[in-house]
Amino acid sequence: MKIILSPDPLLREVCAPIDPDDASVEHLARQMVSLMYKNNGVGLAGPQVGVLKRIVVIDVAPDDEDGARTHAQVLINPHITWHSDETAVVSEACLSIPGCSFDVRRYVSVSAECTNERGEKVVYEKAEGLLAHCLQHEFDHLEGKTIFENLDPISRIDALRVYREALARGAKPGDVGDG
Ligand SMILES: [Zn+2]
Repeated sequence: MKIILSPDPLLREVCAPIDPDDASVEHLARQMVSLMYKNNGVGLAGPQVGVLKRIVVIDVAPDDEDGARTHAQVLINPHITWHSDETAVVSEACLSIPGCSFDVRRYVSVSAECTNERGEKVVYEKAEGLLAHCLQHEFDHLEGKTIFENLDPISRIDALRVYREALARGAKPGDVGDG
């Protein structure tokens, strides 16, 4: 399993729901979490590893005292159930767009529902901050949208140029760049 980079067409596909009885999900989730950690990411969505299914893994918790990351959460078939009226511009990076970070507009707070890898229902009630941004970013991936699709046309042209330059410099997943 490896991280797929923009502009791979797999990143533009709308993902299919996961069958609750799909026994392969737990293994897939474990692989995705370890790949996310290996690349210092806070989130990873199915399409980013070539799996066009509605699965996301996130870990937005601070590192443990010994530097370990142990708070991964698996979101199966997630959807936003509520969002704030208020939006804010935040700087985001993406493992599929290495070497870059871009300003995107996000809801300040969102609620979401999903199941976890054990089929249990999970509710995110009025999430804020990094968690809120991360949920919106990862859910976008399930709809075939990356950061680039969240930019206005002029900013997008700029961002694509910055990204081409980052790739030419040899940027790898986990490099976040300086904007
Ligand atoms: Zn991403």
